[in-house]
Amino acid sequence: MQKFHDGLTALITGSTSGIGLGMARTFLAKRIPVVLHGLEKQGPALASQLSKEFDVPVFHSAANLAHSGEIENLVEFATASLGKIDILVNNAGIQFVSPIDTFPSEKWDQILQINLTAPFLLSKAVWPQMKSRGFGRIINIASVHGLRASEYKAAYVAAKHGLVGLTKVQALEGAGLGITANALCPGYVRTPLVENQIADQARAHSLSPERVVSEVLLKKQPVKEFVSIEAIGELALYLVSLPAFAVTGTTFSLDGGWTAQ
Ligand code: NAD
Repeated sequence: MQKFHDGLTALITGSTSGIGLGMARTFLAKRIPVVLHGLEKQGPALASQLSKEFDVPVFHSAANLAHSGEIENLVEFATASLGKIDILVNNAGIQFVSPIDTFPSEKWDQILQINLTAPFLLSKAVWPQMKSRGFGRIINIASVHGLRASEYKAAYVAAKHGLVGLTKVQALEGAGLGITANALCPGYVRTPLVENQIADQARAHSLSPERVVSEVLLKKQPVKEFVSIEAIGELALYLVSLPAFAVTGTTFSLDGGWTAQ
């Protein structure tokens, strides 16, 4: 069986950093053109550097997912640049940590918008073209916090559980249309998002960054190591392959055994 659909293309949100950037590199290594997206200033330079390195087209967008209007523009830009969108990776995400009684309402709104509403609006916008071609792959980067809770992460846990629910609906509605949808649920991965948490927690608890990693972050992760970005990219590559046509509506834990407990 042929491994990949001919001429695959991918829009990966939040791919100018961390997990999304790693996934872009994995796709580019398989000669899949990518729209690199994210707010990092170095985005345009990164896109041209990756395009040269892999000799594959890479386009860049800095659409702000906090603004629903920019989401439609992002899909229009990606469709025009790539010719079509076969793969949508909803990866962009933010975090904020606070007890419920002091959790700022605007942070709740922002996290729900970027981590949950934007993935819905993006899938809504790409759905007609995936449906008309009878092929589409949606990968939602949820989290172990889409399956388990931790204190002080009300908005993030709610949004990621919501994203897992959205994945199941996408899978049911995509069945028979050639569209699959799955959620990846990583434990801790060492990216800028986590580096910020390490710094914040070190300040809050007067601990060294090393002790924050071992005593706070990896406390619930039985494999006491960060999950690798490469592992997430490789799993995504499998999910966009042709043999994975019936793998849909499920969650994949890459969490060092966290959810085994
Ligand atoms: P990161 O901070 O390195 O990257 C996040 C990306 O999202 C950046 O490119 C950023 O520009 C983009 N982004 C943020 N807000 C945006 C906005 N308003 N509009 C457009 N883009 C925006 O983070 P990461 O760790 O690579 O996280 C990627 C995804 O993986 C997130 O959804 C996160 O919740 C999830 N995740 C991360 C971990 C981890 O331990 N790092 C674990 C589980 C799940």
